[in-house]
Amino acid sequence: MPLLEVRDLHVEFRTRDGVAKAVNGVNYTVDAGETLAVLGESGSGKSVTAQAIMGILDIPPGRIAGGEVLFKGRDLLKLKEEERRKVRGAEMAMIFQDALSSLNPVLSVGDQIGELFSVHRGMSRKDAKAKAVELMDRVRIPAAKERVGQYPHQFSGGMRQRIMIAMALSLEPDLIIADEPTTALDVTVQAQVMDLLAELQRELNMGLILITHDLGVVADVADKIAVMYAGRIVEHAPVHEIYKAPAHPYTKGLLESIPRLDQKGQELFAIKGLPPNLMHIPPGCAFHPRCPMAQDVCRTDVPPLYPVSENRRSACHFWKETIDASR
Ligand code: SF4
Ligand code: MG
Repeated sequence: MPLLEVRDLHVEFRTRDGVAKAVNGVNYTVDAGETLAVLGESGSGKSVTAQAIMGILDIPPGRIAGGEVLFKGRDLLKLKEEERRKVRGAEMAMIFQDALSSLNPVLSVGDQIGELFSVHRGMSRKDAKAKAVELMDRVRIPAAKERVGQYPHQFSGGMRQRIMIAMALSLEPDLIIADEPTTALDVTVQAQVMDLLAELQRELNMGLILITHDLGVVADVADKIAVMYAGRIVEHAPVHEIYKAPAHPYTKGLLESIPRLDQKGQELFAIKGLPPNLMHIPPGCAFHPRCPMAQDVCRTDVPPLYPVSENRRSACHFWKETIDASR
């Protein structure tokens, strides 16, 4: 049994202008100790899927319109909010992009890390503080003992992200979801934070879902990749197979995108045009208006996830041609 199995998940948002279909039948699994990278531009549904797993979708207007989220075999979507909250605290945790707005500016970092131990484990303030120092050491914040009483603004962006990782790890969850955890950081700091996260994940044998728009950060840490477009998975494969030769033109475009060193979190996307409006997803293959390989059939027939190899699927009618073109 996988640690997490998302089955045919559908999420909609009701807006004044109609229903936006943010997630349209997503399936994926994550095992203990495994890293799944979920890739796509903003609006592809990668974060919304994660929020549905965590149970933190803003409802309304977000609504889970179908599917299952099986975590250690139980469907989280059927749990009461109170049970959900327990799972969220102790069994799965999330790391967000923006540590500064996720941390409380008027509480010391030690108090914020320690709070989890006093709330969930009933620890005394003194014990919780000792635990906080231990965790700050673990995420390699220098001079943890001296800095435990300092406030978030007294730390650099990279150190703040380490504090977020420490908080996420504190209760030793089985699953971590990291949503663009390094996007706001400088490139060299990005690599250090990513390496740390990957190392701790291996040590603690946690499942990790790494959400990113940047293929560059996943190469060394992910086991497999799910590429999302317009609320669907368009390619799903072991990481080395994707790098060898993408089987979907959208993945190929992501691979060919050039990271911009001068603008944090920005990149030059190799494929022209914008992702579709989720209230008006194009018929056939949703990617066809932007696809350099599109044929007539692409405008009418939705491509299923074709099996490419044992562990690989591509939602492109022309996946063979795409692989051949990359060789
Ligand atoms: Fe491009 Fe057609 Fe493949 Fe869609 S199905 S990615 S439009 S070639
Ligand atoms: Mg996002």
